[in-house]
Amino acid sequence: ERVEFISYFHHVIDRFQMNIPEHISFTRDLQSGKSFVWIDKDKLMQVLDNIISNAIKYSPEGGTIRFKVAKQRNQILVSISDEGMGIPYDKVDKIFERFYRADKARSRKLGGSGLGLAISKELVEAHHGRIWARSGEGKGTTIFFTLPLMGRRRREGK
Ligand code: ATP
Ligand code: MG
Repeated sequence: ERVEFISYFHHVIDRFQMNIPEHISFTRDLQSGKSFVWIDKDKLMQVLDNIISNAIKYSPEGGTIRFKVAKQRNQILVSISDEGMGIPYDKVDKIFERFYRADKARSRKLGGSGLGLAISKELVEAHHGRIWARSGEGKGTTIFFTLPLMGRRRREGK
C-alpha cells in the first residue's frame, strides 16, 4: 500500500523507544517533508524490527542508536547505526547469509538464529530496494537500505 515513510518510521521508532533498556538512547535525523513509498507495512516492520533489535542487542552500555532517512533522487536511504562492537570488515557482507553469526561465543550468549538479516534482505529486495552494512571491529555498525520513491500521482486512489 502507499505509505508516507517518514511518519511511518517515526511511529515504528516510537514503539521501540517505549521498551528499550534505560541505558540506550535513540536519536533521529529524519528529513522533514513527505516521502511516499509502496510497501507492505507488516513486511517492512519485520525488516525494521530485526535491524533495530540487533542494534539494541549489540549496543554497549550507554550506547546511542541513530536513525536517519535521506531522500535521494528516486529513492529513500534509511540507516540505523549503533555504537556496538561492530563486525570485522571481512565478515560484514556475510551477515546477510542464512544462519551466519559473526561471533559464535557472543552469539550463543545473546541468542538468535542468524536468520533475521537474511529474511530482511529478501524482504527489502522484494520491495525493489537494496540492503547492506558498514562496520568494523570496535567501530559500531550501520545498516543501510533503500526503497524506491513513488512517482507523483495525478490522482489519489488505491
Ligand atoms: P536472529 O535475528 O535470527 O534472532 P541474529 O540476530 O544472530 O539472530 P541476524 O540478525 O541475521 O541474526 O544477524 C546475523 C549476525 O550478524 C549476528 O549473529 C551478529 O553476529 C551480526 N550482527 C548483526 N547486526 C549486528 C550489529 N548491529 N552489531 C554487531 N553485529 C551484528
Ligand atoms: Mg537479529
